[in-house]
Amino acid sequence: MARELINVTSCDWHAALPDAETPTPAGHERTLENGKQVDLCGFCAWLFDFYYPRRESVLALLQPGVLDSFFRAARDTSPPRRVPAQLALPPAGRPALEPAPLTEPEAITSIRNKPSNGDWKDDVVQVKCPLPHRADKPTGYWVDIRNRTGHAHSHKKPDGSRYEGPDIAFELQPEERFTHYCTLHQTCAEHGGYGFLSEASRASHIHKAGAWQPSSQEAKDAAETRLHAHSA
Ligand SMILES: [Zn+2]
Ligand SMILES: [Zn+2]
Ligand SMILES: [Zn+2]
Repeated sequence: MARELINVTSCDWHAALPDAETPTPAGHERTLENGKQVDLCGFCAWLFDFYYPRRESVLALLQPGVLDSFFRAARDTSPPRRVPAQLALPPAGRPALEPAPLTEPEAITSIRNKPSNGDWKDDVVQVKCPLPHRADKPTGYWVDIRNRTGHAHSHKKPDGSRYEGPDIAFELQPEERFTHYCTLHQTCAEHGGYGFLSEASRASHIHKAGAWQPSSQEAKDAAETRLHAHSA
């Protein structure tokens, strides 16, 4: 009955969407790790059960840069080429018992030609990581700028903790320029400001780094002064 529908609880997750307009009816309850409860619709309850216990690995897999690399790594499904019959003539005097050998499947060739980790790419903005890498990269180890944070995490400090993006003096590729800097976090300010190519990227960093220690006024001022001196 309509009157009952008015009192139906709505999905808290759907309500959190920036463009949520009409409430989605909830029929499920779930408990967060902090003991608080949320009301969820069927879809969100299903998603919650899968996502919540493993959210760190799921989020890591869903980063735009990760998805990008993942989709680019997709294999071509076109059938491998065979050597044309006239090129596979047997040596004189021996009968051709075997079928013509397969050439190297295209998939293997395309893996060989695909840029591997650390290679320069022409189609994405990259930064150069100054830290040592196992791979032999004579022109430096290049990282998509979108993967800078994840790449930083792959390096361990001498004390065993992981690097954060601003801890590494990533060098931007020559044709690009950082236009926006974060000085709101202590680690960003201490390194003279963490550079971004747009306000949106900077805002995204600030959003993701919500748990980072805020910068002291002193560190922030010092970073701002340096940045202004550079841009002046
Ligand atoms: Zn929902
Ligand atoms: Zn590196
Ligand atoms: Zn920051």
